[in-house]
Amino acid sequence: SGTLYIVGTPIGNLSDFSPRAVQVLSSVDFIAAEDTRVTLKLLTHFGIKKPLISYFEHNKWQRGGGILDRIAAGENCALVSDAGMPAISDPGELLVKQAAERGIPVAAVPGPSAVVTALAVSGLPTGRFTFEGFLSVNRKSRREHLEEVKNEHRTMVFYEAPHKLLATLQDMLAAWGDRELALARELTKVHEEVRRTTLSEAAEYYSQNPPRGEFVLVIHGAAAPEKEVLSLEDATALARTLMAE
Ligand code: SAM
Repeated sequence: SGTLYIVGTPIGNLSDFSPRAVQVLSSVDFIAAEDTRVTLKLLTHFGIKKPLISYFEHNKWQRGGGILDRIAAGENCALVSDAGMPAISDPGELLVKQAAERGIPVAAVPGPSAVVTALAVSGLPTGRFTFEGFLSVNRKSRREHLEEVKNEHRTMVFYEAPHKLLATLQDMLAAWGDRELALARELTKVHEEVRRTTLSEAAEYYSQNPPRGEFVLVIHGAAAPEKEVLSLEDATALARTLMAE
């Protein structure tokens, strides 16, 4: 059998594409791409010529089998998405699962991913975090998602599109109350910016300044519930009772 390579691509800055990624894309038999036009630009930039087939959200159930048949027959394939790591809020999860089920080797060629990049520059606790992806556009599932993570104490990372950013900040504020957050915008690009602020200030700011570009929201987890502390009087009374006993 051949191998399915999961190849990360830049999230903005082409210089982040690794020599190994170039070498793997140059050596595989074919490339499965989320959007072949986007990938063609990347390939042209690096002087790579390869047969491309499309593999995305709406054809993944039809296409997966054929791709894996070819790999099982000995061809090597690289899977790429438009930007960042495939399978992370991008096509790929299903193909990796199906490959694993068929015993087809899957190898990672890691590249940047907006979730880890944003977390690293957020200034918020990084020791433990949860990746929440995109909130649904459906009002009910959106509210359920926000409610579900209300007491999450780990740092949370969300992806969001610019035209939905303001509504998302307002919904988070309504669901959780005010919180610290970092908005990481246009990471690795010319207009890269990290705004470390609060939900209320960010909602106010973006209602005046329409958001542009790509955003990751890194949100402080819920504060730990206050530990019950005995007052000096109560502690003394408790000590007296215990000694009397
Ligand atoms: N697979 C990608 C990854 O590994 O990061 C994520 C793909 S997802 C469809 C696109 C979302 O990722 C954007 O809406 C944005 O939230 C985030 N994103 C991607 N590139 C970014 C960048 N350069 N700066 C900030 N956010 C980015």
